[in-house]
Amino acid sequence: MKTVIFGGTFNPPHFGHLKLMEAVKSAIEPEKIIILPAFAPRNRREELASVDDRLEMCRLLAEGVSGAEVSDFEAKSGKISYTADTLEYFREACPDDRLYFAMGSDLFPNFPNWFKARRIVELAALVCVARSAEDINACKAAEKTVKSWGGSCTFLKCEPFVCSSTDIRGRIKRGEPTDGLLPENIAEYIKRRRLYRG
Ligand code: ATP
Repeated sequence: MKTVIFGGTFNPPHFGHLKLMEAVKSAIEPEKIIILPAFAPRNRREELASVDDRLEMCRLLAEGVSGAEVSDFEAKSGKISYTADTLEYFREACPDDRLYFAMGSDLFPNFPNWFKARRIVELAALVCVARSAEDINACKAAEKTVKSWGGSCTFLKCEPFVCSSTDIRGRIKRGEPTDGLLPENIAEYIKRRRLYRG
């Protein structure tokens, strides 16, 4: 079975995350996508959402993607997790699965410097989705490094969808519309829970 692990802070989840999952689904055809919100210490000055609110918003995001589910493995661990350690956990939990680790192209150029990056590519094949056209050039050196380690990384061809959680939080704080950036159920949840208002 092909299982994709998709980590992030998801503060909040948005259409960029959905587009990434859709691109990964059509290219890899996985049976399962595990959305994995990270533990993130709450910074009150920045008015970030709590772990429980992020988990709930990720569940709402998963409703829009068949085969997607949410894991609270990192979010409930109470500490910052290393991807390598998280993948060791999923390797043991799903020993027969082929694991993929999905990320946006903003993260990939620095991937070789991640803690135990070589181990990560032994545990999972990497899948990368473009966030901007420029990012893709910046990914070349990292791709070469990963391949020299015997790892697999696939760049998915899809139109970048420019959108970030930071931008959405800023818009909400300033009282600006977020139309077209967030799934409706998540926009409603944010409104109901009065998140990101500052
Ligand atoms: P922030 O603005 O708070 O840094 P973010 O929008 O980058 O947040 P994350 O939760 O940090 O969102 O991202 C989780 C994963 O989703 C990362 O791999 C990131 O590269 C990817 N991602 C986020 N937004 C997009 C997008 N618009 N297109 C493709 N991938 C995305």
